[in-house]
Amino acid sequence: MPSSELVTDTDTDSDSEEVEEVDLLVVGGGKAGKSLAMDRARAGRRVLMVERDKIGGTCINVACIPTKALVESARTLRLTRRAAEMGVAVEGEPTVALDLLRRHKETVVAGMVDAHRDMFAESGMDFVLGTARFLAERTVAIDVADGSRRFVSGVDVVINTGTSPAVPDIAGLDAAEAWTSETILQLERIPESLLIIGGGYIGCEFASMFATFGTAVTIVHGGAQLLPREDPDVAETVAGALRSQGVEVRLGSRAASVDRPIPGGRIIVAMADGSAVEGSDLLVATGRAPVTAELGLDSAGVEVTEAGFVEVDDHLRTTAPHTWAAGDVTGGMQFTHLSWHDFRVIRENLSGGDAATTDRLVPYTVFTTPELARVGLTETEARARGHRVRVATLATAAIPRAKTARDTVGTWKAVVDGDTDLILGAALFGRDSGEVVTALQMAMLGGLRYQQVRDAVITHPTMGEGLNLLFDALGGDDG
Ligand SMILES: Cc1cc2nc3c(=O)[nH]c(=O)nc-3n(C[C@H](O)[C@H](O)[C@H](O)COP(=O)(O)OP(=O)(O)OC[C@H]3O[C@@H](n4cnc5c(N)ncnc54)[C@H](O)[C@@H]3O)c2cc1C
Repeated sequence: MPSSELVTDTDTDSDSEEVEEVDLLVVGGGKAGKSLAMDRARAGRRVLMVERDKIGGTCINVACIPTKALVESARTLRLTRRAAEMGVAVEGEPTVALDLLRRHKETVVAGMVDAHRDMFAESGMDFVLGTARFLAERTVAIDVADGSRRFVSGVDVVINTGTSPAVPDIAGLDAAEAWTSETILQLERIPESLLIIGGGYIGCEFASMFATFGTAVTIVHGGAQLLPREDPDVAETVAGALRSQGVEVRLGSRAASVDRPIPGGRIIVAMADGSAVEGSDLLVATGRAPVTAELGLDSAGVEVTEAGFVEVDDHLRTTAPHTWAAGDVTGGMQFTHLSWHDFRVIRENLSGGDAATTDRLVPYTVFTTPELARVGLTETEARARGHRVRVATLATAAIPRAKTARDTVGTWKAVVDGDTDLILGAALFGRDSGEVVTALQMAMLGGLRYQQVRDAVITHPTMGEGLNLLFDALGGDDG
């Protein structure tokens, strides 16, 4: 049970404070939390959401939105460089204008933050800017940004505190003034040369973007392939595209120590194999850690995994009654759309439903240029699960729309079950893949056989039309 009317807290000046009661208390305003808070408040519930410092959450402030705003800048630069090829005359050499670039990113972010502020107010929730810490089951103390303190108890509580950049234990890293995925977005400068430790999707996105901006980029990655979740051939295709953009991709390179001998000077990353790389700046992109350490989850009766993620069951219930968790903080894949789906699961369960997170088909896109869009099983996973696998591949250069745009880099790959003809998964690397993959996802959700996609009438000329060609590659079997 949550503590009832009075809370005694040794951290407060007074011995006891009044506890406010609400129907729903949301701790952390990420995608799931803010969606739930607005939804329940609009439905007439008493809702309080506490958010530490990012109105709208991580995605809007320091992740998906600013990075994709910058990816679009990089793509604009690439297009402009190719203007003559497309019959358009541009005077002089296009370059990045750092102040304009910063303004572009900041106005996109600020517009979305302002829209959230308005939506929060309009929903009728009590939105509190402050830091929450659990004192008891379903009860938090909030250090409000204005210096005051509040104590709040919820009939239901949702923990949505997300993750923050994980900084690995590498000798010298602390002193080296390395950037994280958050601090690099302040765009202090366009680095002359950028070392990136970590070849996951965040490292690859920044590599592609900064290489386009003119930075000499080196990815230092401990594993044998970039993007460890992907099939080796897919990861190699992405690595090849990055290399063709001038990125040096060092695989099997484990960073052992970092040194910046002169403050503000060049950085040297020494590898476990004795080699070293040097650059003007360093980005550490080695994953994200849960924001749970200072939440007082012990007091809330909420258990965490060894890595600190909140333990949840397939209904997103934590180990404490009426206490739910959503988004990155629950472990597993870290995507905004997954957190948004968590919102739908909890919303239904709060209304007496029985929604679960099992068997979710979760697509995602790695926003390199071109982009890699993924859905379902990889070939490796499909084989491991015992499917009789058929693989269809297509060079995107074969798609008429790609020719019209003179944007022909890429390969699509789909994995089909040889017994049922159902589509098991796909990795689409190429122009607009993040859009096209949704069509495939719908086909998979609808249980279409690959022949139905192969034979569907699709608008010409679009990248989506490539789906006809992709499945044509499996031969003339009419199924
Ligand atoms: C560089 C980068 C690019 C990305 N690009 C994409 C992309 O293109 N597409 C995609 O789907 N995903 C992307 N992601 C992942 C995506 O950002 C996350 O999966 C998503 O933001 C997770 O949202 P969430 O709901 O878990 O919570 P978050 O949005 O992380 O929100 C948690 C909130 O809790 C607050 N908080 C923490 N502790 C407290 C406390 N004690 N009291 C009050 N508030 C607290 C935090 O301030 C934060 O605002 C990217 C991530 C990064 C780092």
